[in-house]
Amino acid sequence: MYFLDNASTTKPFDEIKDLYDECAQNFYNPSALYDKAVLVRKKIETARKNICKYIGGEEGTLYFTASATEANNMAISSVKYHSKELVVSALEHPAVYEVAKSFQNAGVSVKFLDYTSNGITIEEIKSKVTKNTALVSMMHVSNETGIINDIKLLTKEIKKINPKIIVHVDGVQAFGKIPVDLMDLGVDMYTLSAHKIHGLKGVGALWVKNHVNVAPIIYGGGQESGVRSGTENVLGILAFELAAKKVSSDVFKNAEIARKQKQTIIDGLNKNNVKYVINGDSCSPYILSISVDGLRGEVLVHSLEKYGIYIATGSACSSKKTENRALENLGRTPSQIKGSIRISFSAYNNYDLTEVADIIAKEINKIVKTIKG
Ligand code: PLP
Repeated sequence: MYFLDNASTTKPFDEIKDLYDECAQNFYNPSALYDKAVLVRKKIETARKNICKYIGGEEGTLYFTASATEANNMAISSVKYHSKELVVSALEHPAVYEVAKSFQNAGVSVKFLDYTSNGITIEEIKSKVTKNTALVSMMHVSNETGIINDIKLLTKEIKKINPKIIVHVDGVQAFGKIPVDLMDLGVDMYTLSAHKIHGLKGVGALWVKNHVNVAPIIYGGGQESGVRSGTENVLGILAFELAAKKVSSDVFKNAEIARKQKQTIIDGLNKNNVKYVINGDSCSPYILSISVDGLRGEVLVHSLEKYGIYIATGSACSSKKTENRALENLGRTPSQIKGSIRISFSAYNNYDLTEVADIIAKEINKIVKTIKG
């Protein structure tokens, strides 16, 4: 089996099984007062501190949530817009884009930043962000194309316009894959997801810089300092810590493995004369998004299943939707969009992809020939 859809999710690290046993034995509610529960609470607090350290976020706090989707919702909903603007990029994951749309429907002035194949430009920031902007939300790495935004540069520009503007970054496809140092980036809020780095599904986090306000969207027993109520997902949080430690200590080594895997696929496409365009110029080594005129992405996905090769047509979250904001924004035609695929890598599935690349290329050519006749 060749799992090449790691941008949608990743296989949990094996060591998490041991953590399950530990958590099943120490099943106590972390909010209870007796000693055994206090030990569970301490483990959560250590996980919080450690993950902050791995992202260079010691000057802030991490709030655990049930997903990155929830963390993104929380970040954007933390600001009172009144007569102020919300600015998000046009390529955002639905967990940001749809929140922005719902604010727009409720009467908030929302602006959308366009993308180039090298990400959001400073000119775009200058033309859309104003002194009246309350919050800007941008993704660090695009889940659909892998395009990397220069967050440090963009944040600097936003803060020049008005230092009070809150900068939120969705870092789900960045953390553990490219270096992330939040103090250096200068952002105010940063979103993480555990299942994209070989942790478990159902755990995310929002990092918030000291002195930046964050407001709850879920009310209840006051866990997570009142910011996110609900009994903590102890196993999920400890598995998140374990995964975060592993991936952040090997960022450069792993990126090189991913880069080689990506290059092997590109070499296979070239060797077999596939006519394709890569969606994006400055991209993550972990994501290869290509468009092929005349291909049907979903036909390829199913034809590769029989070889045990698993890829995606786009992001998993948008595969059921007909439009594709990311590729439209890059100027791809409807035919190219229908013929788009996303292949995404993990250094922990260290496959030799030479044969796989050949199979993918030959299947693409076969499908294009059948469709074009
Ligand atoms: N943001 C980005 C960039 C993503 O790729 C994803 C998942 O695909 C999410 C947010 C949502 O993450 P979660 O599945 O933890 O809600």
